[in-house]
Amino acid sequence: MGSVMAMAYSPDDLEPIERASRDEIATLQLQRLQWTLRHTYDNVNAFRDKCLAVGVHPDDMKTLSDLAKFPFMTKTDLRDHYPFGLFAVPREQLTRLHASSGTTGKPVVAGYTKQDLVNWAQVVARSLRAAGVRAGDMVHNAYGYGMFTGGLGAHYGIEQAGCCVVPMSGGQTEKQVQQIIDFRPDCIMVTPSYALVIAEAFERLGIAADEISLRVGIFGAEPWGEGMRAEIERRLGIDAVDIYGLTEVIGPGVASECVETKDGPVIWEDHFYPEIIDPVTGEVLEDGQEGELVFTSLTKEAFPVIRFRTRDLTRLLPPTARSFRRIGKITGRSDDMLIIRGVNVFPTQIEEQILRDTRLGGTYQLVLTREGPLDNLEVRCELQRHAGNFTGSERDAVAQALTQRIKTSVGISVAVTLLDVDTIPRTLIGKAKRVIDERKIQ
Ligand code: ADP
Repeated sequence: MGSVMAMAYSPDDLEPIERASRDEIATLQLQRLQWTLRHTYDNVNAFRDKCLAVGVHPDDMKTLSDLAKFPFMTKTDLRDHYPFGLFAVPREQLTRLHASSGTTGKPVVAGYTKQDLVNWAQVVARSLRAAGVRAGDMVHNAYGYGMFTGGLGAHYGIEQAGCCVVPMSGGQTEKQVQQIIDFRPDCIMVTPSYALVIAEAFERLGIAADEISLRVGIFGAEPWGEGMRAEIERRLGIDAVDIYGLTEVIGPGVASECVETKDGPVIWEDHFYPEIIDPVTGEVLEDGQEGELVFTSLTKEAFPVIRFRTRDLTRLLPPTARSFRRIGKITGRSDDMLIIRGVNVFPTQIEEQILRDTRLGGTYQLVLTREGPLDNLEVRCELQRHAGNFTGSERDAVAQALTQRIKTSVGISVAVTLLDVDTIPRTLIGKAKRVIDERKIQ
């Protein structure tokens, strides 16, 4: 397989491994798992200690199912060994550092060797190709540059794909829009929530979706549903595809969706080995079953991860447009799950219901309060610009219909507050903050 990977291919062609048989993929994965386990065992004390504690050794890795014998790695392990304690190469061999945005606590630090960066650029380039982007296209990169993996991760992949990168980063919405008008890029890479902010800025200028040069957008870093996909596609006049990744595993480009199928991100399984586990028992689940996504890196030198528990909830789906398996839409992180009066709710479920109504936009907030022992959820959302002159009773009807849809499909009673367009603060850099939990401050 090594020679297959080394074969020259044009950036616009599929790599041979993307069309390989499942047997070929499994053979490559096993070889790479054996290498990764050995490399990590030999060079990361914390991993070796964990293996010794449960009596496993890299030599026990004889078939893919043997991976289940090895211990999990969690965010807590990463924090305990902050900043460099889980790296498998000497400090001097690092070429770059990144850190997570710290959505759920203290940041975790990721290190990369030169070869890690080459592999990362390659999977991002593949992700662009899956989105239908071709060498010579121009890509507007509005992911934040800096410690966050989004900006630079996308940047080098865009260059690797033979495209021209516009390294815009996040924020300065007016300037973003002016550059898109002036430079006429083919593709945009950004969080889905910020894509809507850009769409709104075009609307304010009176520029229609079909006048915008963009053809496709590659959106990730936060959960978003099919309703949001339709909304972004309509408002920017593009195809919208989903890219998934996380700092611990490498950054964006662990998995990405094919534009021809739009059926969930394809996992670049020659670099990242996925498992789905029961989040409570840790037992490995069959493909198709919903559970927590776990990744083992297959080629990473500086910061290999073994059975890293992402806390992201989804399912593994069979291959379609590529030979690799896919993930379903990420319902949300286990940390994002709200429990409202005993019902488990993910913000994306509410988002789906909001976006069923074309009079409502995709920017929303969920405010949690507590009244005695009971949790209350207020859904704040905005009327679209074209519905700005609605009368009081028309507004009431929109709010009531949404309350009813949420009650029927999610199973909870909420209070809906309808706001005018541009009332909810937009997140200009990084991930949107959807949930405001006022229970903690009481
Ligand atoms: P942080 O953990 O601080 O948010 P990361 O940027 O590493 O920093 O975030 C990775 C997480 O972002 C993933 O574990 C997942 O929860 C979320 N994420 C990334 N891409 C997507 C996507 N396409 N869909 C849903 N969630 C995503």
